[in-house]
Amino acid sequence: MGPWSGRVARGPLVGLVVVALVSLACAGGGLAQPEGERPGANLRAASPEPNTTRADSTTSVAEFKQDVADAQAIAERYWAAQFKASGQRFTPIRRVTPYQRAGEVSCGGQPLPRNNAVYCSQDDFIAYDVAWSVAAFREVGDAFVFYLLGHEYAHGIQVRLGINYSFTIQQELQADCMAGAYLGDSVRAGDLRLAEGDLDEFREGVAAVGDDPDQPWFAEGAHGTAEQRTDTFFRGYERSLKECDLS
Ligand SMILES: [Zn+2]
Repeated sequence: MGPWSGRVARGPLVGLVVVALVSLACAGGGLAQPEGERPGANLRAASPEPNTTRADSTTSVAEFKQDVADAQAIAERYWAAQFKASGQRFTPIRRVTPYQRAGEVSCGGQPLPRNNAVYCSQDDFIAYDVAWSVAAFREVGDAFVFYLLGHEYAHGIQVRLGINYSFTIQQELQADCMAGAYLGDSVRAGDLRLAEGDLDEFREGVAAVGDDPDQPWFAEGAHGTAEQRTDTFFRGYERSLKECDLS
């Protein structure tokens, strides 16, 4: 992650991202887990260049795309290993699709709006508004991309495991925990290397997508407050999947 001094505009933009996320949280109503999430960081896949850390000042779209691809590959490796360890067959999420216009991508016949990222359970894919995601990537940092992918990927894992909570917030916080576990475990396994500041980016990024404090926890589309989401993410990050109530 870049030095804090390099991200002077972060505060205001993060606020904007939060608003966008909250307002879109229910956009996918009717879908298993359509929603917006977003945060940022400075991570990098350990392979094929295990000893490298990304230049923190680089915020190109090409780098963003590489981070998305890295995050997807790491998530696939991680969940494949988890499923294998428990004797279950694992099928990766079918695709990760960027989009630029509202309605360009649909999930179960429902057009996806701008400024969002979703997992579509009907067709088993992740889709994200590329302009919105790049903006968050630039403002929060590259770690945001790894968190975002990890969270949406976790929704796909929930479907595979048949997990379906009564309240949105339970499903969302569990996905945050699982995103934390995939990242923390991948770092511990040497599959992902963090650059200086990445942990701070996670913290900023997860907090940035917290619900408005006035949002009732039981509301449809509720994801959890910034504090709840941050606490849950780091519990998974530090102590792995046993914190996530998957069984
Ligand atoms: Zn979610």
